[in-house]
Amino acid sequence: MSYPDLRITFLGTGTSGGVPMIGCGCYVCSSQNTKDKRLRSSILVQSPATTLVVDTTPDFRTQMLRENVKKLDAVLFTHPHKDHVAGLDDIKAYNFFQKKPIEVYANLLTQEGLKREFPYIFSEDKYPGIPSIHLHTIPDKTFLVGDIPVTPILVYHLKMPVLGFRFGDFTYITDANRIPEEEKEKIKGSKILVLNALRKNHHISHFSLPEAVNLVEELKIPKAYFTHISHQLGLHEEINAELPPNIELACDGLQLHL
Ligand SMILES: [Zn+2]
Ligand SMILES: [Zn+2]
Ligand SMILES: [Zn+2]
Repeated sequence: MSYPDLRITFLGTGTSGGVPMIGCGCYVCSSQNTKDKRLRSSILVQSPATTLVVDTTPDFRTQMLRENVKKLDAVLFTHPHKDHVAGLDDIKAYNFFQKKPIEVYANLLTQEGLKREFPYIFSEDKYPGIPSIHLHTIPDKTFLVGDIPVTPILVYHLKMPVLGFRFGDFTYITDANRIPEEEKEKIKGSKILVLNALRKNHHISHFSLPEAVNLVEELKIPKAYFTHISHQLGLHEEINAELPPNIELACDGLQLHL
């Protein structure tokens, strides 16, 4: 199967509070290195014909302005936590210029969350100028978003099901601490894997740095980037220097071409 050329842009690589965290004076939050400044986690995926984002973070507006994204076709949601959905209201700018709804793909759990967080988007009697979406339930197999084939991967965030997404040779997984064996098969063969790695110490719902490194080795992935990073992980340059040569921390604005 031919796969379109893709450009991936990391819109944000921080955990739910972002880095720096409000009110924190730690050495990471005080760092002057721009790579230690992390908006909430999301990626932009662009083929020649299609532009989609994975999640709409509280920083969505800032992220789309920073990357000068003039067109948006679709949003794919991983799970309904606030740091992954809060920016949905700002898709209204794309509705205004494109004069049509945005295609939104989510599992049923996330759809419930969207209806709870944004009831006005789903109301019968809509206020003018609010976001307009066309909601799709993500199937249990590869589906097409424009010209981009997407394979959903079911992972777990403590007990919450979360969706990772494989786009050709690139797989993006955030907010997980467990991946069932049969879902690991869907990741194998990826040339690039993005995984969440919150901090060095164990956490109940996120992979720690050592857990993420072990998973990259287990799945024999040639190149990996870590995201959803807490200020507790440490400085970008220091942590990168400790990692195996095929793994690095992602940073905001990083672009990959596939
Ligand atoms: Zn998160
Ligand atoms: Zn801090
Ligand atoms: Zn989460």
